[in-house]
Amino acid sequence: MKNFLIDLLHSILRALGDGEVKKLDPIPTPQKSMPKIDPETNKPVSEPDKIYKIGISPGHGGSDTGAISANGLAEADVARKISKKLLERFNYNKAFNAVIYDYGINEPKNYSGRVKQSNSRGDDYYIPVHLNNWTPKPSKNGWLVFVNPKDAEKNPYLFPLCKEILNSLQSAYKIGYADWDKDRDGYMEGIGRKVYEESTPKADTVYLELGFLSNKEWDAKMADSSVHDKIADSIVSAFEKFHKLEKFRK
Ligand SMILES: [Zn+2]
Repeated sequence: MKNFLIDLLHSILRALGDGEVKKLDPIPTPQKSMPKIDPETNKPVSEPDKIYKIGISPGHGGSDTGAISANGLAEADVARKISKKLLERFNYNKAFNAVIYDYGINEPKNYSGRVKQSNSRGDDYYIPVHLNNWTPKPSKNGWLVFVNPKDAEKNPYLFPLCKEILNSLQSAYKIGYADWDKDRDGYMEGIGRKVYEESTPKADTVYLELGFLSNKEWDAKMADSSVHDKIADSIVSAFEKFHKLEKFRK
């Protein structure tokens, strides 16, 4: 031990005397985790060719609560809860980059501000999240997805995407399609021809009306966060399926 210390001291002095700089061991590079294997091709999952920018816009906000259910649920509140679940799920896939445009539950809703943000971010999809309400017929329930006909003209895939979303929601909860406004706006199986209160975003808009708060059973379900999970899962998996992006899940 003593000899070792002396040797060490000598070598340090020698190194100092020679002006020699002792090389440090290289810093070990962190081990890369094993790449995910695509079960179909048996090859590592590659990076997505494109990252879809998604802007989520929870309906209403601030003093505008939107619809209020018989149990006292506010549309604005439920829309925010579902929007957050959508955000998490989209961002669980490498092929999506999602944000929520919102100024908080206590802030004014400011839709045009959200659209401006979406336009400058260059979103591919803009997704307003709402729930329907029609007290004259409380038994009424159903899914509704609106698209802007101008978007659909430019992008013929938009209606098929909406059908995929509707089918996916329908397989989660069989509540039908809300084509109740057919004679007013010509809605077809829940895919509306006329859009929304929000000014026109540059992104393709997929405007969701997620059931009717005026429906007693749905009102009860909307208090349950596992129902929000299932709804968000259905919507995001429809986007993934439509664009074939399941394999990019993190
Ligand atoms: Zn609304």
